[in-house]
Amino acid sequence: MAPKDKMGRRLHDLRISVTDRCNFRCPYCMPKELFGPAFEFIQRQQLLTYEEIARLARIFVGLGVEKVRLTGGEPLLRRDLSDLIRLLAKLPGVRDLTLTTNGLLLPKFATHLAAAGLHRVTVSLDSLDDGVFRRMNDVGVGVEEILTGIDAALAAGLTPLKVNAVVQRGVNDHTLVDLARHFHGSGVIVRFIEFMDVGTTNGWRLDDVVPASEIVECIDRALPLEPLRANYPGEVARRWRYRDGGGEIGVISSVTQPFCGGCTRARLSPEGKLFTCLFASAGHDLRAPLRAGDSDEELRQQLTRLWGTRDDRYSELRSAQTTRQPRIEMSYIGG
Ligand code: SF4
Repeated sequence: MAPKDKMGRRLHDLRISVTDRCNFRCPYCMPKELFGPAFEFIQRQQLLTYEEIARLARIFVGLGVEKVRLTGGEPLLRRDLSDLIRLLAKLPGVRDLTLTTNGLLLPKFATHLAAAGLHRVTVSLDSLDDGVFRRMNDVGVGVEEILTGIDAALAAGLTPLKVNAVVQRGVNDHTLVDLARHFHGSGVIVRFIEFMDVGTTNGWRLDDVVPASEIVECIDRALPLEPLRANYPGEVARRWRYRDGGGEIGVISSVTQPFCGGCTRARLSPEGKLFTCLFASAGHDLRAPLRAGDSDEELRQQLTRLWGTRDDRYSELRSAQTTRQPRIEMSYIGG
């Protein structure tokens, strides 16, 4: 039976960050001033091996996890990632095996990922305006390169494909409708994400947040929307469908409409720490017991204990005081 945490939430999703490295420097996640050439990324020998990740994932699945998402940094930078996907795809009980990527390397890897057993992908694309997008990735990558990556993923059958766009006031909020229009009728689901105070390096201010209600109003004026029910309890995005049948969008509203009450997500860091909240300041080391020879049963009991004591609900408690607390970086733990 899946363990419950202190708020009665069951384990359902496992997010696995396989690297803290990225080939983008999005200021809202990995500002280049801080993550420059001198930044010390996690060294290879400190990373969990694919066998260790797969073993932990198998134990998590035994505790109720059905959805596994690979993240980073940029997960496609980790060598031979298809080997890990092959191991995870074999795990009975994994109903949804997905990956979040910035899309730049999809033309190179999409068919391999699909052949290894990946079900679908989520691609980050914050704007279709080339100038805005280049500023938002801060490494000069253009929109066309990501659209080519999306086409490669669609051609490889990695669907339903979702596109994530972080919305920042005065940065890309004037380009949301273009993004919605572009994918309207294509089957691709765009999810608009409120700018979050993840980590402590992105200069987050509440004034820069465009509330979910405003995002929906803005798109509804151009492409009329109506609300949709969640696919499953605890689903992160609130769903809206186009009244004309052109598909749906999602809105992720961690700041203005927190959803901690249904949060069923555990996160595993590249070097094997378990985090029970995206806004946590510390994790629980699983690599040491793994490498010390603990049995599956011992690890299962430890995870059950850790989840059982969980009472995270940062977004519900967010305040001027909480935003001063130390928090792990998005580029380290993934979304
Ligand atoms: S703030 Fe933490 S507890 Fe709340 S939804 Fe996000 S990850 Fe879950």
